[in-house]
Amino acid sequence: MPAISPDKPYRVGRSRTGLGLFATKPIKKGAKIVRYFGPLLDCRKKKHDAIENKYLFELNNRWTIDGSVRKNIARYINHACKPNAESDVSARKRKVVIRAIKNIEPGEEINYDYGTDYFKAYLKPIGCKCAACEKKRKKKRAEARAEKVRLKAKAEKKALKKAEKQAAKAREELEQKQKQKLKQAAKQRLNGARSNGKLLNGHGGNVAAGQLIAAKPGIFAEPASTQGAEASASA
Ligand SMILES: [Zn+2]
Repeated sequence: MPAISPDKPYRVGRSRTGLGLFATKPIKKGAKIVRYFGPLLDCRKKKHDAIENKYLFELNNRWTIDGSVRKNIARYINHACKPNAESDVSARKRKVVIRAIKNIEPGEEINYDYGTDYFKAYLKPIGCKCAACEKKRKKKRAEARAEKVRLKAKAEKKALKKAEKQAAKAREELEQKQKQKLKQAAKQRLNGARSNGKLLNGHGGNVAAGQLIAAKPGIFAEPASTQGAEASASA
């Protein structure tokens, strides 16, 4: 880590994305914190235009500061979507100063908005890890969890309703079967009483008796003829 004079109101420290710049003293809103500096690149020079790194700070369509040099402490400042500092750009002077836009307390990480181009190129693909975006993600995760719980409860309720419906249907079917059984039993009892009555009054009994009488000769006649044939065969 780079050596920083104890007079300065910041230090380099561990942040959630690696290293970051942290306040060591209260920094008043509007106060200049640190200058973003490095070699000036002229995009009209092929050699300059070919330089590519994450610390290029574009001043205008011609001049860019190459902030990748180690001495540029401002390069440790991380991006934030809701920052407590800003980059104060003077294209005419080709100078960039990081300035507080809020009162910053000791221990707070200092950050500024890197701008849309940087965000699109470097942060969007991996997901911005600034406090505001983490908070947003946390909220979304909590909402997703709550939605999952809600859907699960809904599914459970639906399953319970279905089971209740099935149980009611089964109960109804059973009741129906029992009713039918009772009906049949009652019918059988009634039939028995009726046939008894017939037997008693003689009408039903007469037919049955007549049938039996008619059948009897047949039953006896057959074996008689067979016997007769056997007898004639054996004779
Ligand atoms: Zn963010």
